[in-house]
Amino acid sequence: MAKKIAAGNWKMNGLMGDLPQIDAIAAAVPTGITALICPPALLVAPAAARTAGTALRIGGQTCHSAAKGAHTGEISANMLRDAGADAVILGHSERRQDQGETDADIAAKISAAQSAGLQAIFCVGESEATRDAGHALAHVADQITAALNANCDAQQLMVAYEPIWAIGTGKTATPVQISEMHAHIRATLAGIFGDTAQDIPLLYGGSVNATNAAEIFACPNVDGALVGGASLTADNFIPIMQALAAA
Ligand code: PEP
Repeated sequence: MAKKIAAGNWKMNGLMGDLPQIDAIAAAVPTGITALICPPALLVAPAAARTAGTALRIGGQTCHSAAKGAHTGEISANMLRDAGADAVILGHSERRQDQGETDADIAAKISAAQSAGLQAIFCVGESEATRDAGHALAHVADQITAALNANCDAQQLMVAYEPIWAIGTGKTATPVQISEMHAHIRATLAGIFGDTAQDIPLLYGGSVNATNAAEIFACPNVDGALVGGASLTADNFIPIMQALAAA
């Protein structure tokens, strides 16, 4: 897997009729990057089937921490893997807020995902109030140390820095803010994993689009992006993949 990662999070968007967007993205993945789309759970299996043999990988948006059992409505990491997923987003701020996911929940999900052979795309990020109070760096470091430890498989891990105030708002963190935070995340990961931390892809997420992608990818310690709204169509996502390939 290339360390440059362009990942799309479709959230609760997309019907069967939108699968041709995934076909078009799969047909346009540039060499030198890993491209990944995480559609809603019901589209994982058909998307994986349609993209088999292409460079596009498919992921889930969450999984349960248990391998199986009496958890009505839940999806296990093994089920995602069985459906053809290669990765899963974990700890997204929308799930922390809407479903009350805690750092401990996320730690358990990361372990389950990696045991099932999935890459864990672990999301961290501060609220606007936390940034305004000057605690953004400490908050993100706390999220990392609460959810990761040396038993995690660094080879099956990506970290996505997604400031909550930049998600779906059209506001993007500045290159200075991104560079500062990504350096801090890299140092925090080095404290857990040692030199291996250099190999963990660090993604930025928060209103990334075709216009701002190149500037974001030029920041040190930015290995790619986790993209929400602009991943829903091939027309919007392909230029982001191309900007990453050119970075
Ligand atoms: C996201 O929610 O992961 C995200 C980055 O969304 P958007 O690109 O729409 O801000």
